[in-house]
Formats: sequence, C-alpha cells, structure tokens
Amino acid sequence: MKTSKSENGYYGGLKQIAKVANSTLPLRRILSSIAKSTTKAMRANGCSIMLLNSQREYLTVAGAYGLSDSYLRKGPLLAHKSLPGILDGKVVAVTDASKNEQIQYPEVAKQEKIISILGAPLIQNEEVVGEIRVYTHEPRQYSQADKAFLLTVGNISATTMERAELYQMLSTNYKKPITERTELGQIPKLAPSSLRPSSFAHPSEQEFSKLLDFYRLEWLYEPRAFPLQQESNKVTEMFTPDFYLPELDLYVELTTLKQSLITEKNRKLRRLKELYPEINIKLLTKSDYLRLLAKYGYGPIGEAKVQGINQVLFSHSQIQHRVRTIAKHISRDYAGRHLVLVGILKGVICFMANLMQHISLPVTVEFMAISYYGDDTEQVVKITKDLDSSITGQDVLMIEDIVDTGMTLNFVLNHLSTHNPASLHVCTLLDKSVRRLVHVPLKYIGFEIPDEFVVGYGLDYQGKFRNLPFIGTLTPELLERELEEE
Ligand code: 5GP
Repeated sequence: MKTSKSENGYYGGLKQIAKVANSTLPLRRILSSIAKSTTKAMRANGCSIMLLNSQREYLTVAGAYGLSDSYLRKGPLLAHKSLPGILDGKVVAVTDASKNEQIQYPEVAKQEKIISILGAPLIQNEEVVGEIRVYTHEPRQYSQADKAFLLTVGNISATTMERAELYQMLSTNYKKPITERTELGQIPKLAPSSLRPSSFAHPSEQEFSKLLDFYRLEWLYEPRAFPLQQESNKVTEMFTPDFYLPELDLYVELTTLKQSLITEKNRKLRRLKELYPEINIKLLTKSDYLRLLAKYGYGPIGEAKVQGINQVLFSHSQIQHRVRTIAKHISRDYAGRHLVLVGILKGVICFMANLMQHISLPVTVEFMAISYYGDDTEQVVKITKDLDSSITGQDVLMIEDIVDTGMTLNFVLNHLSTHNPASLHVCTLLDKSVRRLVHVPLKYIGFEIPDEFVVGYGLDYQGKFRNLPFIGTLTPELLERELEEE
C-alpha cells in the first residue's frame, strides 16, 4: 500500500524529532529543534512550544522556529484567553486567525502574517503542562493525520521536558521526589534552569532574578518588547523591560544610579505609559526593589535575604492561594452546618487566622496548648490549656500547622474524641509524611513537604521566625544546632 506524501513527511519528521529528543543538548535547544522539524514536516511557516506556569495562568515560549523576535516577545499569553480548548487536552485548529476572537494579540499575529494555527497540548501525568502550535501564512484545513502528528510531537516534547526536570531535581538539594498527589499543593516548581536566560545584560539583573527565586516569586526575563516609535510602518524605537512578574502583573526595569541613564529611561517610560496605559511598569533601583518586595510580603525592608533562612519553600502568595482553596473545600463539605475550629498554640496562629477568614460558614474557635516533658528516651505530652467550651455533639475540625511524626496530633485527637463530638477531622497546612510514626487521618492538607525543618508563617525556631510571611528552611548553621539539640 502506498503511503501519502504527508505521512512520509511525518515519518521523517518524527524520526528527526525522536533523535534530537534523546540527545544531551540543553532543553531550550532541543525544543527549538523539535519546533523546526515540526514546521518542516507540516510544511508550515513556524512553530512554538510553550509552557504553563505553576499557577496555570499564562504560557511562555520555551522553544520556537520561524517566528520573529518581536512575535516571540509579544508578551505572556494568558492561558484562559488564548485557545483555551488546548488546556482541556484538545487539539484546536484555527483556519483564519484574523476572524478568531480567541487570539490574544491579533495585531501582532497580523504583522507576523499568521493566518492558520494548529495547537496541541503537552501532557505529563494526565495534566496539560504546555502547548505546541504551528502557524501558516495561508488559510488551511487540518486533517486527522495533521492533528495526530502534532499531538504525538506534543507528547514527545512533554516527555523530554519531564526528563530534564527530573534531572534538575536530582541535581539539586531535593533528592527525594515528593509523592505525586494531585489534590495537594506541592512545592511549586521554578522554571527548569535550562529554560532560563543563559545570560543577563547586566549583573544587577542576575542578582534581582536570584532574589526573586529566593522568594519563589515567578518572573520572566524580557518577555515583551514595546514599540515606542514608528516611521512609515517601521519600528524605530523599542523598549524591552527587564522583567515581568506575573503574580504582581508588573513589568520592572532596573536602573543604576547613573543620572544620565535614569533620565533616558524615564523618558522611555513616560512614552510607554502614554502608548500603553494598561501596562503596569516600575523603574527600580536596588533599594526600591527591596522596598517593593517587602510591600508584597516578600521579606523585610533593607535585607535582601532574611538572616538564618536558607530557602523559601512557599511564598506568601502561594500560601494565600492554597489557604483560599482549602477554605473553599471546607465551606463546601460542611455546608449548612456550624463548625468548631480547634487550634493548638502557638504554631497555628497564622494559618488559623487566615483560613477562618475565608470559610463561608458560621464558625467558633477554640485553642489548646500542650507541652512536652521528659528526656530523649521518654517524652510525655501534657495539656497545659484545654478547651473553653464543650464540643460534645459538635462538628470539630482540628487545625494544625504541621504534622510530623503524628504523635502530638494522635494524642490530641484521642483527647478530643473522649468529648464525643458529632464529627472530628483534621486540616493541616504542612504534612511531613516521610517522618510519620503514628497513622493519623488528614482530611485537608495544604502542602506536602520533604524531611526539612521549616519556619515562618507561625512556625518557630526557638521562638523566632513566626512573623515571616512565608515558609522557609533554616541555613545549615542553624540547622546543625537544631539537630544537635534534638
Ligand atoms: P509531631 O508530633 O507530628 O512529630 O510534631 C508536631 C509538632 O512538632 C508541630 O506541631 C510543631 O510544633 C513541631 N514541628 C515538627 N516539624 C517542625 C518543623 O519543621 N518546623 C517547626 N517549626 N516545628 C516543627
């Protein structure tokens, strides 16, 4: 049986793609090479491979072929606005982009002469993590074979990325992969280092990027170039801000203290604001950006990094996001009922205060305090402050900051059960399940964490760090002292 011309092209394309996917090239190069082979096999004009950020809000280009720099720097694509069907796992075909309202930057697409688009999801562990799109300069109807080919290329790209991420994880501190439990919040991934810019234009930009990483604040480097002046349809002046911070929806241009540069940048910024009034942009010196991060809860003013903290595991906004989701689940599960929240002092203060504000049910709160007596061989837990009101016949939800061995929680649950509540469940912000000695049922879990001592957001080390708006690990020096004392 004769195979069609396009099937032959697809076979050759896949052979090439599989070969490069197996190579040891940097991930960005592999993805660009896949984009090139895909463009050729489909006889298209260009192709891009894009990744979703951890909050699943926007897509950024990780590899591309046949597209101009200004097209690639058109800005982050909002995932829910741009061909959202792909995020549901579907292959989406657009015959004529100028007539499609799901195209986010129609003017830029027009300039790039893009007419048709075929997009397919990149799927890892049944979850869409990105997209591959091919573009043509003429209207095109796509066949089932075209769609199947692109979906296959998407699958190969996703597997290639997963391998690169795994490699990165194994080569960083977190050697133990965290159990995959999709309903849990996990330590959010930063973009794989191989997808980050290989160099920065200025050392201060690299320093700023490290600070953003420290606070786990997502960033994109120079994702968008804004045309400022045009003469007979040619752009004569552009402005490309250094960073975009999606969580704050803010573009940032860093500046040194050189007055001549500041004046020029200020002029460009004024022009940019006139032309693009919807854009939020700031010109920042180093002390400005420390102040800005502090304003959004990313560390104290004047100190680039918090003394004693090695790494931020969960930023303020990541915690807020997770707390709101848990509160929604609780409100749904206990709809129509009255809930008694019981917290154990003191570590739970931030979580409890935050969580209860987002629960849309009538609640009352109770606090208990406990202390540990004894030596290393035998420790006894004692209640030093008991409940103020009866919980008999009530729906009780224990709120915990962290469950480690499970001993404390087991003891408190046994104590509470003797009061015969109507129901008794547990909600913990952090679950260090690898250290569990006693099985305790956890109904709601914020984040699963590895075997690390963490502080912040209520959790302390020797009474300190409770006021940090994020959760982080201690520096090795402090940690050693903690282990010696254990
Ligand atoms: P468990 O009885 O589950 O072993 O321990 C629970 C208690 O130990 C928590 O309520 C908390 O006070 C303390 N704890 C366990 N792990 C950590 C940690 O990583 N950081 C801090 N600050 N306290 C912890």
